[in-house]
Amino acid sequence: MASGLKPKKRMSLKWKWAIGTGVGALFIFGLFSFFLFKNVTDSLYSEELRNVEATVNQVHDRLQNEEVVDYKTTNTFRPNLNQQTANKNNQGGFNDSLLANLTRRDFVVTVYNLKKDAVFSNEETTIPVKLSNQRSITKQRYQNQNIIVGQSPILNKNKKLIGYVSVVDRLTDYDSNYQRLIWLFGLTSILIFMIISIFGYSLASYLLKPMKSINETMHQLEEDPQTDSRVPKLRTNDELSDLAQEFNEMIDRMQRYIDQQRQFVEDVSHELRTPVAVVEGHLKMLERWGKDDPKVLEESIEASLEETKRMKSLVSEMLDLTRADQIEINYSNEKTNVVRLVDQVFNDFKMIHPEFNFVMDDDITGEPIVHIYRNHLEQVLVILLDNAVKYSKKRKEIHISTANTKQSVEIAIQDFGEGISEENLKQVFNRFYRIDKARSRDQGGNGLGLSIAKKLIEEYHGNISLESSIGSGSIFRIELPVIQSDTSEDDNY
Ligand code: ADP
Repeated sequence: MASGLKPKKRMSLKWKWAIGTGVGALFIFGLFSFFLFKNVTDSLYSEELRNVEATVNQVHDRLQNEEVVDYKTTNTFRPNLNQQTANKNNQGGFNDSLLANLTRRDFVVTVYNLKKDAVFSNEETTIPVKLSNQRSITKQRYQNQNIIVGQSPILNKNKKLIGYVSVVDRLTDYDSNYQRLIWLFGLTSILIFMIISIFGYSLASYLLKPMKSINETMHQLEEDPQTDSRVPKLRTNDELSDLAQEFNEMIDRMQRYIDQQRQFVEDVSHELRTPVAVVEGHLKMLERWGKDDPKVLEESIEASLEETKRMKSLVSEMLDLTRADQIEINYSNEKTNVVRLVDQVFNDFKMIHPEFNFVMDDDITGEPIVHIYRNHLEQVLVILLDNAVKYSKKRKEIHISTANTKQSVEIAIQDFGEGISEENLKQVFNRFYRIDKARSRDQGGNGLGLSIAKKLIEEYHGNISLESSIGSGSIFRIELPVIQSDTSEDDNY
């Protein structure tokens, strides 16, 4: 990190997870509580309205047999002294048990005569009510509080107006229920937030524990790319254990790649050192005595040119090898008609090496097309045929055979030369590997031919194999997947 910059404050994944799940749960519970709360308070409120209406009806029905409404006719509502003490707490100041059951302590029931004077009230403090000849139940504000006011004219059986009744619900029960619900939902929400957050934090800590060891291994790798430390095997058997395993495999691959690169650079320097030393030796010799000696001059120039040619071929082969890594990108759509190409290479070799007997054994049906850049397949065939020529000193005979199935094409190149011992079989495909260094060098070989051939064929998802025994010769087999079997005449593959 740049020294001038302040390190950015960061929040660990555990906290993010804990807070995230907590907030999520809070939101869901909040939504749920809101609808529940609204539902409960709405039905409580409707209950209050129904109670007010029922009380108004009750009082009205009690008085409808009277001719007038006055202190006397409303006397039955009043409690007698004995009952008053006995029932004070549960009858709300009424003598009448039915009324007492209906009306609650936060109800103020007032009965008026025709002049709208209060002749009965269950409380001394009356709340002013606008009386009218129309029954109404309304919500109003009184002393900064919501109240429900129900009022009705009292008509006797002869439909004669004899007085009025008003019922005021101070909503204290409703309000306290309302408050209680708010507290209940509030506290439950906080509790849910805390429980879910703690649970989320613990779960995230447990799940992310393997990340710590992955992170530690990454740090060690950063300090020493060739470190032997790996993420310990996780027993969780989930995505993280897969990640750890992938990570370990990736380190293995990366270290193998680094090793290969280092080895390659070492090999290249080693291979270049000899021709450079040879050229340098000749130049020094020329500098000392050779300038005036035409024989030395000619020999030195010839030898230097030979070594330069070798360096040139080495560099171009190395380039081929590195370019083979880009095949997937550069040659993904290339197609080749195997029969035509093999025929052409076969004829070329017959012409260049007339001392050899080239035999073609064509077992191919149709004209299979394989996904490979034409020049790459040609290069592979040339490498194999060149080797066959180079390493067949006694019996100068080379067989090229081709065969195909629906899925693949096989091209085999067989010679009857010196052959390769079992211990060398696997190594001949390695870079710069030569069985007999001096002899191969004399024949212009850098030990890169087979590694280029293998790399090219494998990049096109094919396979190259070798069978050989000392003294009897070798067979190299190339297998490539077929993409189509073409019988048309006018293609350019
Ligand atoms: P070079 O350029 O030296 O031929 P290659 O990679 O093509 O390098 O081959 C590697 C080694 O495998 C050769 O040095 C040679 O010893 C051996 N080899 C390759 N092809 C044959 C063959 N057809 N017969 C016998 N030996 C072979």
